[in-house]
Amino acid sequence: MKDGPDGIVLDIQRFTTWAGPGIRTTVFLKGCALRCPWCCNPEGWDPQPEILFRELKCSRCGDCLAVCPVPGAIDLSAPGLINRKICTRCLQCVDACRYKALLPVGSKLTVAEVMDEVLRDSLFYFNSKGGLTVSGGEPLFQADFTAALFQEARRYGLHTCLDTSGYAPPENLEKVLPHVDLVLYDVKHTNAARHHRKLGVPNWLILDNLRKIAGSVEIILSAPLVPGFNDAGDFIQELGQLACSLGIREVHLLPYHGMGEPKYRMLGRLMKFEAQAIDTGKLENFQQQLEARGLLVDIGG
Ligand code: SF4
Ligand code: SF4
Repeated sequence: MKDGPDGIVLDIQRFTTWAGPGIRTTVFLKGCALRCPWCCNPEGWDPQPEILFRELKCSRCGDCLAVCPVPGAIDLSAPGLINRKICTRCLQCVDACRYKALLPVGSKLTVAEVMDEVLRDSLFYFNSKGGLTVSGGEPLFQADFTAALFQEARRYGLHTCLDTSGYAPPENLEKVLPHVDLVLYDVKHTNAARHHRKLGVPNWLILDNLRKIAGSVEIILSAPLVPGFNDAGDFIQELGQLACSLGIREVHLLPYHGMGEPKYRMLGRLMKFEAQAIDTGKLENFQQQLEARGLLVDIGG
């Protein structure tokens, strides 16, 4: 293939079964404009590579300090080690740490490099009707790279799935959509004011993008269910209405699990959201409400 755009890739997970039909490889890209306080992948927010610091593995040996070119960027007495306000992310400390206490997250890769990894499991895709999913972060944040990946995947006959929040300029969506077989589309809230209050951005762009693409590609709506935000009957009813009005037949409910907190600490951030898991009875009730509308419902993705 000819050279395409490079991407900043957070992770490549083989044998995923939650992100579209069959056995798939899911490529997670860095960069997302949303800051959902319950997000379990905060390492996907920043578009550039960064460092996870695993405090329990750190011996405070000082090898990282010895190579760091930025005075004050490493403080061996600080719990988080790195002063991220002045760190230039040169990653020299990562290479210097023999205890693997510093992990880089995000690598610059070409389409060909990602596809080499994806194609390792071709046999499984064809036998299971699986393929490639691109997720994030927000894959539309790197729309050119995402489009190029899907184009290349299709050249090999793979099923393609976009896992998106929908919060992106319409032109980014237009670049990617012609190469997509299935969209997993997040709807976090149908109520504009509540969406804005919690996420700091309105939901009109997300809903407009959804309405624009409905009918032109297969869509599954996915809704993260977050206690105190959208775990209520009115949201479920509106979600069901939205799906039915757009001819969407399947909805995935993704209950909040709160397992992302350690990653916030490793990135030197504070997770400002805490909640109990949603109880099973409530989830079953939501499922029944949606099924009563004739929708296929999956809990957990
Ligand atoms: S080199 Fe690694 S183990 Fe040593 S102080 Fe730095 S982070 Fe800790
Ligand atoms: S990434 Fe570079 S600047 Fe930042 S702490 Fe490590 S060595 Fe210092």
